[in-house]
Amino acid sequence: MPELPEVEVTRRGIAPHVEGRSVRAVVMRRSGRRWPCPPDLSELLVGQALRSTGRRGKYLLLRFDHGTLIVHPGMSGHLRILPTGHPPQKHDHFDLEFDDQLMRFTDPRRFGAVLWHANADGDVDGHLLLRALGVEPLGCDDLAQRLHRGTRQRSAAIKQVLLAGDIVVGVGNIYACESLFEAGIHPNTAARRISLPRYVRLAAAIQRILAAAIEQGGSTLRDFIGADGESGYFQQSYFVYDREDEPCRQCGSPVRRIVQGQRSTFYCVRCQK
Ligand SMILES: [Zn+2]
Repeated sequence: MPELPEVEVTRRGIAPHVEGRSVRAVVMRRSGRRWPCPPDLSELLVGQALRSTGRRGKYLLLRFDHGTLIVHPGMSGHLRILPTGHPPQKHDHFDLEFDDQLMRFTDPRRFGAVLWHANADGDVDGHLLLRALGVEPLGCDDLAQRLHRGTRQRSAAIKQVLLAGDIVVGVGNIYACESLFEAGIHPNTAARRISLPRYVRLAAAIQRILAAAIEQGGSTLRDFIGADGESGYFQQSYFVYDREDEPCRQCGSPVRRIVQGQRSTFYCVRCQK
């Protein structure tokens, strides 16, 4: 599943190819399973210039003068830049065509979405899918305080609170496991019992790990293709994730796996309290 770093890597990859370009055609072959077909996008977008790209959590935002196209990769979606006329394959559901290139959205499992939000309906941050999202972790200078303040009444395990995404977005399963290891926090700890100094360490770990993943070009999807067609997959060396029974890189104890909310959590029983 693409996570925040993959979406950010995609955004950085496509930005130079689409920003400032006028849309020549829009082709919607099939819409997502979960989301309704947007209004006639050709009518809305042909002849309009794409002004800038942005991202909120795992949603890619393509901004025009009159609104924003929201692209959600879902479980398996990805975007590529291809030459105009490149023949579509079975799972290529959406194209945004510019003069000599097109941006193609491929989504084998069709859980992704392409949606339109008109400026007339208010700021895009108020969109149904975006308004409940937590803060962006990168560049947030009070992340530890937000985590601390937001969890005083929450007895749920810290790992689950991170995955919920309502305090901070973008900390998916891999990044939650790795951040909690780096901060020395047991994933089952009740969020409200974690002190501010420990949240300071956790916030720093989250920010460092996400920034490193972006730097390395994304990490989780084996067939992730960078926007320029190059492979965006780089094998990261995880401390605990997917390393059940292997020795902890810090203390040598076997890494444990537990299941929380139907997701595997990996941790070190000695390094994380
Ligand atoms: Zn250890």
